Amino acid sequence: MHIHQQFYGVTLTGATASLFTMKNDNGMTVSITDFGGTIVNLITPDRNGKMLDVVMGYDSLRDYETADGYLGALVGRVANRIAGGRFELDDEVYDKLYINDGENHLHGGKVSMSYVVWGVREFATDDNACRLVLTYHSPNGDEGYPGNLDVTVTYTLDNNNALSIRYEAVTDKATPLNLTNHAYFNLGGYASGSILGHELWVDAESFLVTDAALIPTGEVRPVDGTPMDFRTAKPIGRDFFADYAPLRLAGGYDHCFNFTNWKNTAGGDPILRAILRDPVSGRRMEVLTNQPSVQFYSANFLKNPLFPLKGGLQQRTQTAVCLETQNMSGSVRHQGNPDFTDCILRPGDAFDYTTVYRFSAD
Ligand code: BGC
Repeated sequence: MHIHQQFYGVTLTGATASLFTMKNDNGMTVSITDFGGTIVNLITPDRNGKMLDVVMGYDSLRDYETADGYLGALVGRVANRIAGGRFELDDEVYDKLYINDGENHLHGGKVSMSYVVWGVREFATDDNACRLVLTYHSPNGDEGYPGNLDVTVTYTLDNNNALSIRYEAVTDKATPLNLTNHAYFNLGGYASGSILGHELWVDAESFLVTDAALIPTGEVRPVDGTPMDFRTAKPIGRDFFADYAPLRLAGGYDHCFNFTNWKNTAGGDPILRAILRDPVSGRRMEVLTNQPSVQFYSANFLKNPLFPLKGGLQQRTQTAVCLETQNMSGSVRHQGNPDFTDCILRPGDAFDYTTVYRFSAD
């Protein structure tokens, strides 16, 4: 079990970025850069012990800096979209959020947390785990959001092949907050092609319906009897091409799935909420979290020809799965609606959520 730091590059603004590589006693390896807290590589064994990298990414810091897609990055202040780039909070209107997705605000804005070098508080190893503790100060007015916000993210890799991500934050003025990690997984190895054969189980009884711009309309719809029902594991491709408006509007899966009984479990111990499995390699990823929901995104926009992936691989849609545990981004515009999460962090509150991605093979 060890972690080491190496030089990763210098950003266009002159900041030095490092790459931290953790390796556990089974040989599982995770590399994370302090630029955006981005997971760059994640190498795990298949059922025969063959090690492959199962996350999409780029070959250089410069690509992470200039490309879109948020591959592997930490995302905030508010992951996903805020309609019109505006919201109201405590009788004030905030309407200067950066518009970067049609007419809407996506993933915290232009620079946000994904395109900056985070502080490194600590990187260390003990008998059972390696950890990397990253910090980010987002000043009052940053990307149009109120309050001085201090975020701490702790990545931990243990000998159970579990990568855990703990998100903590405090603010001095009320602000919406929804933090996640945007890793793109392909359990056959990042270059292995379509994920439509991956099997997925998600412990969600409902999902958020969106409009064509992928903005939640306010409707929370039961998954029962729809292609959105993953309560029994099924191949992602089974219903992918169904003539079902939410799928056709989004070009695939790109929806917030609300976990069963989320109102009583959010903030408690992380519980098993999703399992992704590649039947070909046998690799399996369990997702445990105490967040209330997950944005399941089947990489429908992963097709930018200008930014080849690692090793020069062309981007292709549906070659990765994102399971972005989070609160419901639509909550910022649906405050007070009991079907949505409380997404406001207030002074004195402790924002504290953990998500674990645990790998095995069968
Ligand atoms: C969103 C997608 C978006 C992607 C990359 C996901 O979280 O749901 O609609 O294209 O992030 O920004």
